[in-house]
Amino acid sequence: MGHAAQDISSDVRVVFGANTRSNIAAELRRLNLSKALILATPQQGDAALEIAEYLGELAAGVFCKAAMHTPVEVTEVAMSHVAETQADCVVAIGGGSTTGLGKAIAYRTDLPQIVIPTTYAGSECTPILGQTENGVKTTLSDPKVLPEVIIYDSELVKTLPVAMTVTSALNAMAHAAEALYATDRTAGTTAMAVDGLKAFVNGLPKVLDDPSDLAAREATQRGAWACGTVLGQVGMALHHKLCHTLGGSFDLPHAETHAIILPHAIAYNARAVAKDLRPICDLLGGDNAGTALHNFATSMNAPTALRDLGMAEADLDRAADLATTKPYPNPQPVTRDDIRALLQAAWAGDTPI
Ligand code: NAD
Repeated sequence: MGHAAQDISSDVRVVFGANTRSNIAAELRRLNLSKALILATPQQGDAALEIAEYLGELAAGVFCKAAMHTPVEVTEVAMSHVAETQADCVVAIGGGSTTGLGKAIAYRTDLPQIVIPTTYAGSECTPILGQTENGVKTTLSDPKVLPEVIIYDSELVKTLPVAMTVTSALNAMAHAAEALYATDRTAGTTAMAVDGLKAFVNGLPKVLDDPSDLAAREATQRGAWACGTVLGQVGMALHHKLCHTLGGSFDLPHAETHAIILPHAIAYNARAVAKDLRPICDLLGGDNAGTALHNFATSMNAPTALRDLGMAEADLDRAADLATTKPYPNPQPVTRDDIRALLQAAWAGDTPI
C-alpha cells in the first residue's frame, strides 16, 4: 500500500497507508524536531512503546494517562513531563481522548503535534479543544491546537474492536451529516461531507466482514479524515449539542452516544431540510435520512438505546432542560417538548420519530 501524502491546508501534512507509523522518525526530522513526548491512554501503552522504539533517540518520554474529556488535572501532570523532558513536540497515538491531551499541551505551549489516530473520531482535523475541569466540560477553538502531521496507519485501526469500529464510524458520519445543513456550509464542505459518508457506507460493511482488510480500513480512515475536516470547518447543530449534553452531564460514552442519537437528530431535522439531507438517502436508500441512518446502524448491530448505556429514564427531563436552555441555530426549531420526545425514543431504542 502506498504512502500517499496529501495537503488539506497549507500547514497540515496528512499521510495514509499501512505501517506508515514506522516512518515517524522521518516525520520529526522533516520538522527539525528531536525530543518527542509520546502520549497514549493506559490501554494503549504498548502502541506508545512501539512508537518510542521507532523514534529511538528522538523519544524524550512516554506519558500514558490520557483520559476521556481531557481532564485539566491530567493535562497538568503531562505538562510537568513536558518540562522535565524538555520535549520539543508531542506524538499522540490513540483516539480522541489522546488527541485531546496533545491539543491541550499544544494550546498551552504551541508545541508541534504529530497525531496517529486509532479511531474515526476526527479530533485531529479540528482546531477545537474540549477540556473538563471540576466536572464541567468547556470547548474552545484555536488554530494553535491543529496538528502539524496526521498519520493514518491502517494497521492501527485493525485492532479497533468491531463494536467500537461501528460506533466510532457513526460518530464520524454524524459530523458529515450535520455539515450537510450547516448554515456556513460551502459547496466544498458539502462535497467533502458526502465523500466521508460514502467512504463509511461502502467501507464499513467490508471492515465488518473482515476487520483485518487493510484496504477497507484505509478507506474508512479517509472517510474519518473527510468527516473530521468538515467538523472543523462548519458549525454543528442539534445532534452535537445533544451528545455534548449527554456526555458532559450524564457521563455517557462518546462514540456510543453519537451512534444512538444520530438517526433521531437527523430525522428531527429532516422535517425542515429533507432536501439538504438527500445525499444520505441517495447513499442508503429510502426517503427519510433519519430512518435510513437507523436502518444502516441496526444492520451494523450498533447500540440503539440510551438505557443500554446506563442512562436513567428519570434523567430525561433534566437532559431535555439542559439541551434547550441556550438557543442555537438548528434547521428545525428546538422546543423542550420535542427534544424530550426525541430523547424518550432514543432512550427506549425506538425508531426515530
Ligand atoms: P477514546 O479516545 O476515548 O478511546 C476509547 C478507548 O478505546 C480508549 O481506552 C482507547 O485507548 C481505546 N482505543 C482507541 N483506539 C483503539 C484501537 N485501535 N484498538 C484498541 N483500543 C483502542 O474514544 P474516541 O471516541 O476516539 O474519542 C472520544 C473523545 O474525543 C471525547 O472526549 C470527545 O469529546 C473527543 N473528540 C473531540 C473532537 C474535537 O474536535 N475536539 C472530535 C471528536 C472527538
